[in-house]
Amino acid sequence: HNGVATTTTLPRPTSAIFGPHVPHLALDARGARFGTRHLQTATVTDADIARLAAKPLHPLTLADLCKNGRPPLSTQSLLSNANFTLSILPSRLAHRIQSLRSLPYIVVANPNVNKIHNNYVHSLSTLLPYAERKIETLDEEIKFTEAMADLVQTHSNTIAILAKGFLEARKYISAEEVTKFLDEHLRARIGTRLIAEQHIALHMSSKPHNQLTDRDWHDHSESSFIGVIDTELKPAALVRSCENTVGEICELKYGVRPTIRIVGSPDATIAHIPMHIEYVLTELLKNSFRATIEAGMEKEAIEVTIAPSPPPEETSSSKPLSIDPATHTPATISTHDQGAVDLAASSSHKPTSSTSPNIRPLPSSTPGVTIRIRDRGGGIDPANLAKLWEYGFTTFNEDEIHDKTSGGGGGMAGLDVISAGAGAGSELAGLGYGLPLGRAYAEYFGGGIAVQSLWGWGTDVYLGLRGVGRVE
Ligand code: ADP
Ligand code: MG
Repeated sequence: HNGVATTTTLPRPTSAIFGPHVPHLALDARGARFGTRHLQTATVTDADIARLAAKPLHPLTLADLCKNGRPPLSTQSLLSNANFTLSILPSRLAHRIQSLRSLPYIVVANPNVNKIHNNYVHSLSTLLPYAERKIETLDEEIKFTEAMADLVQTHSNTIAILAKGFLEARKYISAEEVTKFLDEHLRARIGTRLIAEQHIALHMSSKPHNQLTDRDWHDHSESSFIGVIDTELKPAALVRSCENTVGEICELKYGVRPTIRIVGSPDATIAHIPMHIEYVLTELLKNSFRATIEAGMEKEAIEVTIAPSPPPEETSSSKPLSIDPATHTPATISTHDQGAVDLAASSSHKPTSSTSPNIRPLPSSTPGVTIRIRDRGGGIDPANLAKLWEYGFTTFNEDEIHDKTSGGGGGMAGLDVISAGAGAGSELAGLGYGLPLGRAYAEYFGGGIAVQSLWGWGTDVYLGLRGVGRVE
C-alpha cells in the first residue's frame, strides 16, 4: 500500500497554517500515528557534529520552500521536498550544537541552557539515520515526517527555558555576548523550524494524485496556502485575531481591555507566513496594551494603520522595505548564514510542471505592507531606548501593574513569570524578548521593526513586512 499517511494528531503550530479549506485528513491505512511510533535514533558523536558543521550552510530561499509547487504534491515532489529538507537540517542542527558548546562552560552547564543543548542533540539523533542517503519510498518519507514533527515539538516553548538559563547565567557572560549569541541562535531557530514545518504542511496536504477526490481538488484550488505560506494573507485580519488573544489576557489579569481602531488599507494582502506575523503582532500588541493599561489610557483606542508598499515598479527588489528614518534600528535584510532569503530568486521562480493541473494565477498581493501601531501609553523613557533590543531587557514588574489596575491575578515577581515556562505566552510581558525576537522574525524575510517614542505621550511602532514575492 502506497498511501501517504495523513493524520490529525500532528502538532500544528497554528490553525492559521491550513486556512479554512483543510481537506479532510484520513488516517494512514496502517494506522500509523505521528508521535506514537518509536522514532529511530542514532548516537551523535563529536565526529558527526564536526563533520556536519563543516558543511557550508545553504542559505534558505523562499523559492526553496515553494519549489515543489502548490499542494497537492505528487509523490515525486513530496520525496524531493523531503530530500531537500534532509539536505539542510542536519548541518544546521550541528552548527547550533557547536555554537552552544562554545559558550563559556559555566553557561552551558546551566541546567536550562543544557536542556536546550540536549534538545538539539536529540533532534540530530533522529535525523542521523537518514543523513547521507536519499529518501526513496513513501514509507521512509512518512517516518521522516514523524521525525520532523518530533523536531518541531521538541523545540516548541523553549524560549522561556532559554531566557531563564541566560538570566541565571548573567553573572558569567556580558549582555552584549548574550545578545550576539541569542540573535544568531534564535534566527537560526526560525529557519530550522520553518523548513521542518513546511515539509510537515506539504506532507499533510498531499495524497497520491489518483486518490484525490473532487472535494480535495476543490479544497486545494480554493486554498491560498503553499505549505505554511499564505499567498493572500490579510494583515488586518491577523491584527484582529491577535487583538483578541491579547485582549483576553488583559481582561483576565487586569480587568480591562484596550481596543484597536484599524485605519488605512485593511483589505491589503501580502504573501507571507501567518505564524511569523502572528508572533510579531502579538508581542507588539502586548507592549502597547500593557503601556496603555499602565498609563490608564484604555479609553483611547490604539490606532493600527495598514499601509501597502508602492507597486513593484517603484520598489527596488534588492532593497529592504524602508521604514521610519528616525529609527534606532534600520531594517536590513539579514545577511548572516541562516537568515538570508533571496527574494529576487523567489519572484522569478517557476514551479515544476509535476504539480496539480488546476493551478490558478496568484492573486495580486502587494509587495509589502507597513503596519504602524500607535498607542497613548506614555512612551518609553529615553534612558531605556538603547536597551530595547537586548534580549532580557524589561521594565515589567507585575506588582507595580497590580497597584495601578484593579484587576485580579496572583502577584508574581519577574522570575516566577519566567518559570511559568511553556505558559509564558499567556503573560503580558516579562521575558524581555518581545522586541528583539519580533525584529528577528520581521527581518527574516526582509522586513523590520522601528520604534518611535514620544516620551510622556505614547509610542509608534512600525512593523515593515516584505511580501515573500510571487511564488509561481
Ligand atoms: P517585555 O514586554 O517582556 O518587557 P519587550 O522586548 O517586548 O519585553 O519590551 C521591552 C521593554 O520596552 C518593555 O518592558 C517596555 O519598557 C518597553 N516598551 C516596548 N513597547 C512599548 C510601548 N508600546 N510603550 C511603552 N514601552 C514599551
Ligand atoms: Mg513585550
